[in-house]
Amino acid sequence: MQQKSQNRARPRGRERCAAAAALTLACALLAAPAAHAAHATSGPAQAPSIEETSAADSVAVLVNPERPLDPIDYVPEDLVDVDGSGAELVSPAADAAEELLAAARQAGHDLVAESGYRSYDRQSELYRGYVAQYGASYAERISAKPGTSEHQLGLAVDVGLASGQCSLHRCFGDTAAGAWVAEHAEEFGFVLRYPDGHSETTGYAYEPWHLRYLGPEVTADFAASNAETYEEYVAALETAADVVSEPLPSFLPPEPGTTDDADPELERVRQDLSWLPHWLAEGPARR
Ligand SMILES: [Zn+2]
Repeated sequence: MQQKSQNRARPRGRERCAAAAALTLACALLAAPAAHAAHATSGPAQAPSIEETSAADSVAVLVNPERPLDPIDYVPEDLVDVDGSGAELVSPAADAAEELLAAARQAGHDLVAESGYRSYDRQSELYRGYVAQYGASYAERISAKPGTSEHQLGLAVDVGLASGQCSLHRCFGDTAAGAWVAEHAEEFGFVLRYPDGHSETTGYAYEPWHLRYLGPEVTADFAASNAETYEEYVAALETAADVVSEPLPSFLPPEPGTTDDADPELERVRQDLSWLPHWLAEGPARR
């Protein structure tokens, strides 16, 4: 951080907006309960770079209806079958899924991988089928449009009971196996991507069976944050990067003896800087 800034001027409008937006988001995140904080995760926490959250071949990429894959017909490399199930994931995610399924079995839950990688063409087929069956607006809630599915990344797996009970249904979350998954997925680098009560943010209804592999480092960092969805987490990263890239020096305390800090609004922003997420404390290299 630059303590002796040449620029002692007050923040320009755009900078002030960026800081205000960041404060609003940060306050929302701080107010949210730390839903994941109680879980132990393996590996050191590491936030992804902003670039990694947009790169289709990155384990940290955020894909949702507003953020389609680039390229739209992306095909991952290194697809591997999970446990002989026919469901495929990219190799590190497949290994982690096999470990998760083995641990679940050891805990007495007969879980299987029901679905993994789906190609752009396969997703198009599925989506057209749902539209024909239910109409476009309901189809959008239950199925990703082609090019917007995490399954196309080879990083998402749908798990279910071998018995087929509650398969791909919200009641899976009420089964003992569903509760085990919700509690332990993070230990294997997976997150429940579509939690209950967050469809406005994620764009999807509750899917207790849909696990997204983020890898141990990003999962641990996400778990330690107060974000309840990956959308919130990436938005916080983007906002923090935005604030740090330019406006922050303007909000540093004034040098002793100067008097340009009389603006009470600016003073409030300076005092509120404690909201900054923990990853920022570790330096700009993380971006
Ligand atoms: Zn799924």
